[in-house]
Amino acid sequence: MENFDFYAPTRMLFGKGKVTALPEQMKPYGTRVLLVYGGGSIKINGIYDTVQSVLTEAGFVLSELSGVTPNPRIDAVRCGVALAWENHVDMVLAVGGGSSVDCAKVIAAGACYEGDPWELVKDPSKITDALPVFTVLTMSATGSEMNPTAVITNPETKEKQGVHSGYLYPKASVLDPTYLYTLPAIQTAAGVADIMSHIFEGYFKKTEDAYVQDKFSEGILKTCIKWGPVALTEPENYSARANIMWAASMALNGLCGCGKAGKWSCHAMGHQLGAYYDITHGISLAIVTPAWMRYILSEETVDKFVDYAINVWGFPRETDKFALANMGIDATEHFFMDCGLPSHLSELGIDDSNFQAMAEAAVPYANLDTQAYVPLHVEDVVNIYRACL
Ligand code: NAP
Ligand code: FE
Repeated sequence: MENFDFYAPTRMLFGKGKVTALPEQMKPYGTRVLLVYGGGSIKINGIYDTVQSVLTEAGFVLSELSGVTPNPRIDAVRCGVALAWENHVDMVLAVGGGSSVDCAKVIAAGACYEGDPWELVKDPSKITDALPVFTVLTMSATGSEMNPTAVITNPETKEKQGVHSGYLYPKASVLDPTYLYTLPAIQTAAGVADIMSHIFEGYFKKTEDAYVQDKFSEGILKTCIKWGPVALTEPENYSARANIMWAASMALNGLCGCGKAGKWSCHAMGHQLGAYYDITHGISLAIVTPAWMRYILSEETVDKFVDYAINVWGFPRETDKFALANMGIDATEHFFMDCGLPSHLSELGIDDSNFQAMAEAAVPYANLDTQAYVPLHVEDVVNIYRACL
């Protein structure tokens, strides 16, 4: 196991009705709040009204940035920073999914920075302060509610870029599983694929003796496999929503990925699909992941895939380890399809015209040629995209 520094400072307010505990957490930081949210789902399902009344009754003054899109764009961040300055806000509160949370984080950092916030995304060492960030989560997938990461897209340069900084940890996050009841099925499924991908990215890594992390990881994958389909068939099943919600936070708060060397592969490839075609993050991962698994399966990696097939999917140990490894990969692909997710890029109208450019961007994005679990060069990434067609 590699050396690591595990730090997870976000207070997690988990459970039905927990939004009422939020004002107490926010009070030490002031009274003026910038509320950041998306395209209006929170107005339809009533979460907006609930948050508004809880905060105004507690004496907070709200200004707002609405209309944050999935794959949030740097323009929304710029608008948010302008609003933060104009209204002299003390803190930023995201109400929504990972897109609103990520946007809120970079607004919080941008509000403490003189230059253009895109500079912070490109060079996080320029983040030297940020307003306090709080979140009320309405979609479980990214783990952004408990981590120091944001992902922002710049449509002009066709870049979708992750930014990590210790200043971006939310101070507190409200996780009320009932807030997930109104999620469209495709978003529930995409969220499950994203959670599983966050685990895969750490599980399939060069460091092989991080046993405790691997056992946490297998437990979270099994949670997704057990409860994801229940959430899809019974959207108001509290146990299903609660388990998926907590799994999402645990999957990407550093717990499962610490002590392991190397960079993520599927997110690097998936982000290019987001940057070029604005497709849903979890869908890009559901398509890329099985193709990537098949591409990297070899004598060097097969034992890990055997562990995965046995410990996660429960397949009996067989003599032919490659057959077993492929059973685990096939099960992964069929699981995503059974959840209603597309399995091929052609289903989304995507052809091979940008594969070369996307691969040329993906490789340096995560040093895939030197630091991935299995090194991937541009031609490898093109081959994986082709296998996704
Ligand atoms: P999202 O983009 O925040 O939301 C997806 C859709 O779900 C939106 O259309 C949203 O509608 C809708 N929605 C959310 N909650 C809902 C609810 N309770 N009821 C009905 N509709 C609801 O989804 P996400 O997957 O959480 O975030 C994706 C972004 O996060 C991507 O940009 C991805 O790259 C990034 N990401 C970040 C991290 C990280 O560590 N920070 C990790 C992985 C991915 P409204 O807009 O109307 O609300
Ligand atoms: Fe992700």
